[in-house]
Amino acid sequence: MRILIRGAAVIRRPEEGVIPKADVAIEGRRYAAVVEGGGIEGGFDRVIDGEGKLLIPGLVNAHTHLAMTLFRGFADDLPLMSWLEDRIWPAEKELTAQDVYWFSLLGLGEMIRSGTTAFADMYFFMEEVAAAVEEAGLRALLSYGIIAPTPAQAESELKRAEGFVRGWDGRAEGRIRAALSPHAPYTCGPEVWKEAAALAKELRVPIHTHLAETKEEVDRFVAEHGKTPALWLEELGVFAVPVIAAHCVHLSEKDMEILAAHSASAVHCPSSNAKLACGIAPVAELLSLGVNVALGTDGAGSAGDLDMMEEMRLAALFAKLKAGDPEALPAPQALAVATWRGAQALGQGKEWGTIEEGRRADGVLVSLKGAHLCPGHSPISDLVYAAHASDVVGVFVDGRPLLLDGELLTLDEEAVKAKCRELARRFR
Ligand SMILES: [Zn+2]
Repeated sequence: MRILIRGAAVIRRPEEGVIPKADVAIEGRRYAAVVEGGGIEGGFDRVIDGEGKLLIPGLVNAHTHLAMTLFRGFADDLPLMSWLEDRIWPAEKELTAQDVYWFSLLGLGEMIRSGTTAFADMYFFMEEVAAAVEEAGLRALLSYGIIAPTPAQAESELKRAEGFVRGWDGRAEGRIRAALSPHAPYTCGPEVWKEAAALAKELRVPIHTHLAETKEEVDRFVAEHGKTPALWLEELGVFAVPVIAAHCVHLSEKDMEILAAHSASAVHCPSSNAKLACGIAPVAELLSLGVNVALGTDGAGSAGDLDMMEEMRLAALFAKLKAGDPEALPAPQALAVATWRGAQALGQGKEWGTIEEGRRADGVLVSLKGAHLCPGHSPISDLVYAAHASDVVGVFVDGRPLLLDGELLTLDEEAVKAKCRELARRFR
C-alpha cells in the first residue's frame, strides 16, 4: 500500500526540531520520502490530510505487563511488596490463557489510542500476548517472566522462556521479537541469571528485567549479598548481552557506570514509581553518563494506565524535580526518550524510531487543533507539556494504519471491553 500524509508538521527526530509543513510518503512498510513544503503527487492508495496535525515517530513503551490491565484499580494505594505479595501474586495464580489474551487486546487498544507503536512486555501466557499483538498490529519485544529463587524451579522456567523465544522471535512479519526475562535479581538465583545470559547470547536476544525499583529491595539485597544488584549482575556476566533494566530508581554511582560501560538501557517508569512511592530515577544523570534511557508505563496495575503521552510529560517534570534543575530533560530530550531511545533499548534503533526514508513507517498523527495546544509557539513543547492521548488521531506501524480519524482499525473495542468486564468478575 502507498500512503501519502499531506501537509503535516513533522518531527523526523526530536533533536532536529519541527518541519512546519511536509508531505510524507509511505511505500509498503517503509517511509519513502519526506518533502519539506510538500509537493509530492500521484499514485497513492490513500491520501491523509495532515493539515493541523503533527506527525511524530511512534512512542515506545519500553517496559510493561500488558495483561495487567486486568488489575487496573484492583489494589491501589499500597506499598510495592504488599501490593505484590498480598494482592497481585495470589490473583495471578488464578490467571488463565483466556484472561491474558483478552486483557492484552484491551491494553493494545489503549496503547494505540495514546500513540504507542512498540512496546516491551514481560508476563505469563506469552503466546496469548503474541497472538493479540499479531492481531492488533503493533510492534513488540515479548518475554516470559522467569521467577525462580531456588535452583529447583530454574530448569522448567528457563525451558518455558526459551520455548517462547524459539517459537515467536521474528513472527508477525518481524513485528514480534523475543527476549529473556529473569524477573529481577531478588526473584531469580545466580544459576538462573548465568544460564539466561548464556541462552540470550546463543539466541541473540536481549535480557529484559527489573532493577533497583525500591530502596527497601536494594537495601535487603546488599545486606544479603554484600553488593548492589547491578554489580552482582555484572559479576555473573549478565551485561555481556544487551540488557533492558526497568526502573533503575536506586542506583549507586558505580551502578550507573556499569550500565554505561555495557551499553545497557534503563527504562524510567515515572507513573508506577510515583504511585508506589519508589522514588525518582536519576534520568538526567544517567543520560549525562551515556546510559540510554527509555520510557515505560509498567503494568496498568501499578501505573493506572498505559498512556505514554502522560508518561513523557511526567518524565520531563520529574527529571527537573530530581535534579533540582528546570533545564533537566528538556522537551526534545523527553520526546527522544519516548521514541528513538526506546527503539534503541529494544535493540532495533537502526530499523525504526525516527521518521527517515528507508526506515519502517511507524508514526503518530497528533491533532494540534485543541485550545490547550493554542497558539502553537513550539509544537515539541506543546506535545510534551500540554498534549493528551485524546489528541492522537492517527497511528501507523509498518506502514499500516491502526488508528485513523480516532477510529481503531484492527480491534473491536466494544467487544473487547465487554469480554474483559465479564472475565474480571472472577477477580475481586
Ligand atoms: Zn514491571
